[in-house]
Amino acid sequence: MEKHLLSKSTFIRGTQCLKSLYLNKKRPFLRDKLSPEQLAVFRRGHKVGSLAQKLFPGGIDMGPRSPALYRKALLETQEAIRGNTYDILYEAGFQFDRLLVFLDILVRENGKWHAYEVKSSYKISDTFLLDAAFQYYVITNSGMPLENFFIVYASEEMDYEKLDEYENLEPLFIRENVLNRILPLQDFIKEQVIREKETLTLDKSPDIPMGPHCYEPYPCDFIGHCSRQAQRK
Ligand code: SF4
Repeated sequence: MEKHLLSKSTFIRGTQCLKSLYLNKKRPFLRDKLSPEQLAVFRRGHKVGSLAQKLFPGGIDMGPRSPALYRKALLETQEAIRGNTYDILYEAGFQFDRLLVFLDILVRENGKWHAYEVKSSYKISDTFLLDAAFQYYVITNSGMPLENFFIVYASEEMDYEKLDEYENLEPLFIRENVLNRILPLQDFIKEQVIREKETLTLDKSPDIPMGPHCYEPYPCDFIGHCSRQAQRK
């Protein structure tokens, strides 16, 4: 099994900026330090993800114990899918064409598999749809048919300051089936994967000037580096 070139997060990074994708892979030491606000958002996402798993109790965590163990996690996911012991898998891993994803929650119902991706947000953004479309592309092309793909996100009942206090979780989440919105994105995903893989073969980073894309959908963590480059020009 060849090592993956793109994960879900690096693919999304590449849709924002191919230079960011290149720098992240080849020059990671140039990244800006994470701000306390960004760290807080990551922690919140982790907590919301753990809460959402409790909506689907009794599953098994397939996530790798460390990044280096991802191949083992992929094989264990395949074994769990072939067996009939578990119908709920957390962090199920799939690889296709050197693209790697770990899906938040995978559920088997009446022999069919349903995917659930959790977001700590009050609405579904275009980026979340791209993220779901990429996961659908990798999972189904790896040979695993999916009946549905849901994004699970926060309802207005959820107060991020009270995540440790909730006992009744159902009212906190909305489950929205986005299959019909991600199927039309499959051709784009295929073309974007080619663009991103080509970018990673370059000898130096693509010459992309700074602009509004540096802040949308996420503040890029190479803003410091690119700003210094721009000043030198
Ligand atoms: S700062 Fe802007 S131009 Fe530079 S890598 Fe990030 S998104 Fe691309």
